[in-house]
Amino acid sequence: MSKVKLAESLITRSASSLLRNKSYIGGQWVASANKQVYTVYNPANGEAVAEVADMAEEDVAQVVDSAHQSFHQWRKLSYKNRSGIVSRWGELLLKNRDDLAAIVTTEQGKPLMDAKGEVTLAATYIQWFAEEAKRIHGDVLPNHADDHRLLVLKQPVGVAALITPWNFPVNMIARKAGAALAAGCTAIIKPSEYTPLSALALADLAEEAGFPPGVFNVITFGERSTPHNVKLLLDNPLVRKLSFTGSTAIGKLLMEQCARTCKRVSMELGGNASFIVFESADIDAAVKGCIDSKFRNTGQTCVCANRIFVHDSVHDEFCAKLAAAMRTTLKVGPGFEEGVTQGPLITEKAIAKVERHVADAVSRGATVVTGGTKHPLGGQFFEPTLLTGATVDMAFASEETFGPVAPVFRFKNEDEVVDIANNTKVGLAGYFYSRDICQIWRVAEALEVGMVGVNSGLLTTEFAPFGGVKESGLGREGSRYALEEFLNKKYVCMGGIN
Ligand code: NAD
Repeated sequence: MSKVKLAESLITRSASSLLRNKSYIGGQWVASANKQVYTVYNPANGEAVAEVADMAEEDVAQVVDSAHQSFHQWRKLSYKNRSGIVSRWGELLLKNRDDLAAIVTTEQGKPLMDAKGEVTLAATYIQWFAEEAKRIHGDVLPNHADDHRLLVLKQPVGVAALITPWNFPVNMIARKAGAALAAGCTAIIKPSEYTPLSALALADLAEEAGFPPGVFNVITFGERSTPHNVKLLLDNPLVRKLSFTGSTAIGKLLMEQCARTCKRVSMELGGNASFIVFESADIDAAVKGCIDSKFRNTGQTCVCANRIFVHDSVHDEFCAKLAAAMRTTLKVGPGFEEGVTQGPLITEKAIAKVERHVADAVSRGATVVTGGTKHPLGGQFFEPTLLTGATVDMAFASEETFGPVAPVFRFKNEDEVVDIANNTKVGLAGYFYSRDICQIWRVAEALEVGMVGVNSGLLTTEFAPFGGVKESGLGREGSRYALEEFLNKKYVCMGGIN
């Protein structure tokens, strides 16, 4: 067993038994063929947490071969048997919830309570897919000739590459791998370079759950080797599917790479969510929803409210209450500290982007109501920030901030605000608060997004299809629709049936 040089925070939290620093390929813990490693840092204090394998070209070929060979065995298992193994993996996540959460907080920074919530949610996604696998039905179609019978078989796509971001290092993997494995695909998981330890801990639990060797693989790359090695992975014709979550820019690049071998692709990309407060809204509920949506994971979720539009008649009341709620309910600090709700941002680059968005807005006339600067703790901590006087020429109108900045725009009528909300290349989530039932229908239908929160700032559940329109991506995760992303439909036409 390969063990990581433990970070102080993890020794004390007994998560060490799940810590791995080698990749998991073909049922083995494997070091890089060229012996390279890279360092993972704790974003709360900049300390090195672990040295993790930076896998090489040869390793990419090996992981694809393993996943391809094991596919023939895995796809033949009955859905019931596959479902049992997937379900056991979900149970093990729950059993090891606190240790997994400690790993997430250490390498990603989020508060420990939120990390525990993430692991629980991840387990529910996995359990959902384990159950749904039992309901993958084919079809018998009406026949076009007397002696013909027509069938549709649903078959797993094949080897699936699953490339994930750092913001939900457990759940993003669970959502993809749960569906892929339940559908009968084999999985090659490539986690974010910032959060490989969570992915490797999930592989440790997958091994314990009993996936046959080669069915569940995790390959890790450092930042510098990622572009080249991911391209090799996607150039390989044996990989038949890419499911990617990350930024729109990288998603587009990977779609181009997949085009060469016509892979199936699912893309969960960036958002720029609008959050609209209409004049009939319950203002206290809207303030709570705004805190939930905007500040979860310190503003680092793809469905975070990025642009807040408030009707002129309730603007001042909403802003005063939001500022008060931010001051009283949000506490910035290291994720292991009791009561903290806002951890650090993931990198210095992320802090620089937030600072750029605030400076740009202020230079164009926005007012800082609260926050606006780095937190006194320094490092990668930023003050929860409320800006008023936001306008459509400011950077956050067209770019995801991915940080704890709440810019408020003032509006006067519904058509105007819906047009502005839709005036962005992306369309992932949108929220609005209203108690006018006709307006609720009109606006829910008019927003150009994949998901709408009406009088609710939180949307994610395993029951519902998660995904976007426009440049927010293709395909859906979660819900009964998600398994289809990993299944091909095969039409069988049987003649001569007399
Ligand atoms: P990112 O695009 O930088 O990285 C995502 C993954 O792609 C990582 O595994 C990374 O190593 C890999 N990658 C980066 N550059 C690459 C390259 N040149 N070639 C191949 N692979 C490469 O995104 P991120 O910063 O990790 O995550 C934040 C982004 O993810 C935000 O835009 C956010 O909105 C989006 N996101 C979307 C969803 C969704 O469900 N739609 C969910 C979470 C995050």
